[in-house]
Amino acid sequence: MTPQQGAGLTSQKSRDRLVANLRNKGIQNERVLAAIAKVPRHLFVSEALSKRAYEDTALPIDAGQTISQPYIVARMTELVLAQENVTRVLEVGTGSGYQCAVLAELMDRVYSVERIKPLFKQAHRRLISELRYRNIRLRHTDGTWGWSESAPYEVILVTAAPDEVPQVLLEQLADRGRLIIPVGEYKTTQRLLLITRKGDRFHEQEIEKVQFVPMLKGQTK
Ligand code: SAH
Repeated sequence: MTPQQGAGLTSQKSRDRLVANLRNKGIQNERVLAAIAKVPRHLFVSEALSKRAYEDTALPIDAGQTISQPYIVARMTELVLAQENVTRVLEVGTGSGYQCAVLAELMDRVYSVERIKPLFKQAHRRLISELRYRNIRLRHTDGTWGWSESAPYEVILVTAAPDEVPQVLLEQLADRGRLIIPVGEYKTTQRLLLITRKGDRFHEQEIEKVQFVPMLKGQTK
């Protein structure tokens, strides 16, 4: 048995049960479900919490942040795949790296940025050194400013909630590109928005109510 496979509550059986649970909650995209069945979420939380990794719940990670609830990861990934032929995605808020890994299973290339240095480093070790994803690029930076060198993006997915949609992220969308972003104050009702670019116009659609940690400015040492 390798650490990646896990055993007992971190085993393939537990991942499959999580997939069944997500199916019951309305996740339908088989490619998304297959990615969730594959990525070892227990390696993205502390060892003390690894036995809870396949519950459908957000869990604390370092620096007061959280690894998103699997349902939300699945739902956002379904939105990414809702348009055909999406190959490149920018994620803002690497955190544990779990959402990034799920995306990497489905995309040619995933760019992800994180403002907290220790989280960036830990995600880098997990995703690049240990799990050996070759199609992930990580950067320690404030994602309010996107990642201009690799823009425009077909999809930008934000996993922390700003009060307002950052203008720069809209500017880094390709034509017909989509921004998936939770917006609203921390601990009040946030709305998950799907914003589609058509030329210089932006069409906004509300997906559902959500709860994310706040999107903050600046980067930490
Ligand atoms: N996608 C992550 C969710 C982590 S929580 C996962 O699967 O684990 C959201 C993360 O966004 C936190 O780590 C937080 O530090 C980060 N974040 C908040 N504001 C940010 C910003 N302006 N730029 C980059 N990362 C940010």
